[in-house]
Amino acid sequence: MAARFTFEKRVGAWLSGASDALVSVLFPAGCRLCERVLVHASTVPICEECLGSFLALGGAVCETCGQPLAAWSLGVERATESSVCPECQTRGYGFDRARSYALYQAGLVRAIVLLKFERVEPLGRWFAGRLAEVARKEALAADIVVPVPLHRQRERERGYNQADLIAKPLAGKLGLPYRAVLLVRTKPRPDKHILSLEERWDSVRGAFATRPGTKVDNLRVLLVDDVMTTGATLDACARVLRGAGAKSVIGLTVARAARHPS
Ligand SMILES: [Zn+2]
Ligand SMILES: [Zn+2]
Repeated sequence: MAARFTFEKRVGAWLSGASDALVSVLFPAGCRLCERVLVHASTVPICEECLGSFLALGGAVCETCGQPLAAWSLGVERATESSVCPECQTRGYGFDRARSYALYQAGLVRAIVLLKFERVEPLGRWFAGRLAEVARKEALAADIVVPVPLHRQRERERGYNQADLIAKPLAGKLGLPYRAVLLVRTKPRPDKHILSLEERWDSVRGAFATRPGTKVDNLRVLLVDDVMTTGATLDACARVLRGAGAKSVIGLTVARAARHPS
């Protein structure tokens, strides 16, 4: 019964994905963010203006966590001269560095929702293109690409892992091996909405593991997810990878929640 339900769900998801792609090529469909008519025959269901509205991260960023340093110096006495943000000066992470394509705001929040709940694969490939640019610009050294996993139960409900939709085409663009099943999430995400930052750190502590028999000895890992909020998830995954022998771990996400000094 459960198996049949999953199968039907998968077929349904495949059909809706296929028809979306077909429709946007054959008929002038509306942009999924602003409803403007899509004039280019693109399979990405978002118009050029909306794609161009995403706030790509540029300028000076924290060497460790990648957040814009400007956010810390605006109106704050301790204007930072350092290339590491005040937060990273006091907190250690399991990853060596983290970088993102753009700020998690406005249109990008809605685009990530599309990817997360409607399996818009062409959008995943478009994001992968932006992340490949970041990886090249920042000279992010890696041997393998690994997605942040969902808990098995969550992935079964959704039918896919949204990080997969970004990480797999990214590995292709970078010419690196893709290791989709290297990490597993052993502890499910709590159902209740997490409010505090401390709760976020608590909820992912010990939530990940490597699959038995996994070999990451001396490998440099590019760890990919859709959004980085506190860095707790990337940190938890990175600690497991380092524990399994990885030489380095770099977190790479499409979006980055804007942080402000509290
Ligand atoms: Zn639009
Ligand atoms: Zn930092």
